[in-house]
Order: sequence, then structure tokens, then C-alpha cells
Amino acid sequence: MKFAALGLSEKVLEGVRAVGYTEPTPIQLRAIPLVLSGKDVIGSAQTGTGKTAAFALPILSKLADHQPGGPRVLILEPTRELAAQVETAFRDYARFMDLKITVVFGGVGYGKQNDELKAGCDIIVATPGRLLDHLEQGTVKLDKVEFLVLDEADRMLDMGFLPDVRRLVEQCPRQRHSALFSATVPPQIETLIQWAMHSPETIEIGARRTPAETVKHVIYPVSDTQKTDLLLELLKRVNYDSVIVFCRTKHGADRCASLLKRENHAVAVLHSNRTQKEREQALQGFRDGKFEVLVATDIAARGLDIADVSHVVNYDVPQHPEDYIHRIGRTGRAENTGDAFTIMVAEDAPHVFAIERFISQKIPRVKLENFDYRYTALFEEPKAGAAAGFPGKVRGGRVHGGYHFAPGGRRR
Ligand code: AMP
Repeated sequence: MKFAALGLSEKVLEGVRAVGYTEPTPIQLRAIPLVLSGKDVIGSAQTGTGKTAAFALPILSKLADHQPGGPRVLILEPTRELAAQVETAFRDYARFMDLKITVVFGGVGYGKQNDELKAGCDIIVATPGRLLDHLEQGTVKLDKVEFLVLDEADRMLDMGFLPDVRRLVEQCPRQRHSALFSATVPPQIETLIQWAMHSPETIEIGARRTPAETVKHVIYPVSDTQKTDLLLELLKRVNYDSVIVFCRTKHGADRCASLLKRENHAVAVLHSNRTQKEREQALQGFRDGKFEVLVATDIAARGLDIADVSHVVNYDVPQHPEDYIHRIGRTGRAENTGDAFTIMVAEDAPHVFAIERFISQKIPRVKLENFDYRYTALFEEPKAGAAAGFPGKVRGGRVHGGYHFAPGGRRR
């Protein structure tokens, strides 16, 4: 099936050709005709499936060129980075249309945003807090919005943005088309759906919880004191082009980045204590290949479109199983293969089991050959009939579970 058969406008099809897409992805095949027919849509496809174009292309097709008195489209995103990325995608797809597209997010001055909003725009891509500020200051009105997209809704919930989202939605006309994307649908999102949407159709691409099938997952158990040694060794041995290393805390990310810098890796850091400028430089430098390693907290995990990430390393196991999916969604995007490594220490075991239950998949434990392991209880053979402290075994190749390392194997 080609894009041309989906009913998109000629100008949008030209835009699609210019960005080089030849065939629609599964979510685009399902969502584009629905949005074009005026239906409200809930999409639960994971990131990396082409969901931005799935809502952007039909919305653009339904807009004529610039008209005074907008905005007619409002896209809400949980993070500044995502907002910037989605704005860029809209500009790409709409390059043959005469539309004014504005991005609005916090952490930067108001001047440019005020000017653009006052000049009038057709499409706003925004994070909720700053847009609410503009609404309160009267720099923007939402009473002409025809299309509303709530992207990464579960992330907005996690970040405490739902009250702001509700206040913004209340300012939009009741007569509008809405789309909502969310990897998971917890009860609060269900309530939002009931309240904000009109008989929506749900599109689920693949099992909701299945990580991209192109990603190979591996867990490296290690003792707490050897986490950084193992990380350095992994980076040394793996033939990576670009790798994102995820840490639990901002402080941990800074520490990890300095360590990698000392070992001469080209490293950038992304977390919410960095200024907007530093965050942009980190992302741009990583995209351009100036930095090969991006050390990030979960703020970077959702939806960021960074092409060709060859590896994701979870230096810290994510505490929420859904964050695992989002983190590893950075690799194996758009059908490239990628590797996802998780470093696990003893106290991570409950979180790892929760992840495995969540994705209905056991992740193989791998021992790095010739790495000078110290003893860790994680390598103990589970006792027959014991509660699964270390579930199952995967044999064959270099992957085998339930290692037994005698204490004599300690370094020093
Ligand atoms: P998204 O899930 O929207 O973040 O998109 C993930 C990546 O897939 C982005 O780099 C898009 O440019 C790319 N992409 C989206 N749709 C297509 C398509 N139909 N063909 C090829 N690449 C696509």
C-alpha cells in the first residue's frame, strides 16, 4: 500500500516524498484513514513506529494553507525535546504548504514565543505548563482549535501534567477532533479519554507491551562495586556507533558522564538540571555524531527521535517497567536492529522481574567473557524448588543463566 492510496492531500504527499518515506508504517496505515474520516483516535503503538506522521499527515491534509485567526491545531507533548522534534516533523511534512507552525516550551525566554503567537499561527506544538502561562497572559487563545493531539499521554501523567492538560483542553472548543497516544492506558488516562474524546477508535499496533522486535535484550549481572568497570568494558568491546546510557538520577548521570570522559569517550549529558541550551547542544551534538555517547535520565527516554542509536545501556535498571520499553525504544527504531543492555546488581532483581512480567519475556543473563568478576550472589545457581530468585536458564552460545562463581573468583 502506498501513501497515495490513503487519501492524503497532494501537497502532503509531496512532503512525504521529499522526506523519503516510500511506504506507510502499520500505524500510519490504520490511523491516517481514521483521522481523515473525522474519527477521534487512540493510538497505543510504541514510539519509533512512525506515530508522529500517523497524526501529522492527515491533520495537515485537512488544513488549507494559512488562515488568520488560528491556531487550528494543538499538539501537547510532555518534554521540550519532544515538542521540538514534533515541530520539526510538521515543518518537514508541510514544506509545500503555507502554514505557520510554532513551538512553545518552558526553560527559554518568552520574547520569541510572544512575537510568534501574536503574529498568529496555524499549528502550535507545546508543553502544557508554558502554554498555560501564555493562555493566562492572553498571548494565545485556543477557541479556534479544530485538531487536538495529546501525545505521550502516560508520560504527561507521570510528570504530573494532567491537571494542566485538562485546563488547556477546557479552553478548546467542544467541537473538535482529538487524538491521544499513550504506550499504556492507566485509569487516569482512561478518565481523560472518557472526558476529552468522542467515541474514539483504538489502534493497537502489535502487543502493547512488546518492545520493538528488532532489539536484542541482554542483562549483565554484576556486583555493585563493579558496575562502572563493567560499563567501561562493555563500551570497549561493543562495536557501537552511538549509545545512550541511562541513569536513574541526574547526579548519577553526571558522575557516569565524567567517568566516561576520563576514559576518552565523546560524551554528552541530558537531564532536566541542564539548561535548555545545554540540552539542545547535547542532542544536536549526539545527532551529528560529535558525541558518541549520550548519558541521560528518563527525560530522554520518551519518543526522542535520534536516528541510528546502535545501543542502549541501562546503567541503572528502570524502576518502572514501562520505562524499560521507552528506554530501549531509542534503539531498533524504524526497523534497524539495536542492542539493549541492562546492568543488574542484586538489589535490582525485583525490578528486573517486574520488567520481565511486563514484557512477558525473559531477558537472557549474559556473562562478559574474560571480565574479572568478583563474587556476586546473582551468579548462584538457583536451588531446585526455590522461589525464582533468578528465573530459568538460557543455554547455548555465549548466553547461559544461573552462573556459579565461587567466592575464590574475587578480584584482589
Ligand atoms: P516516530 O515514531 O514518529 O518517532 O518515528 C520514528 C522514525 O521513523 C522517524 O525517524 C520517522 O522519520 C521515521 N518514519 C516515520 N514514518 C516512516 C515511513 N513511512 N517510512 C520510513 N520512515 C518513517
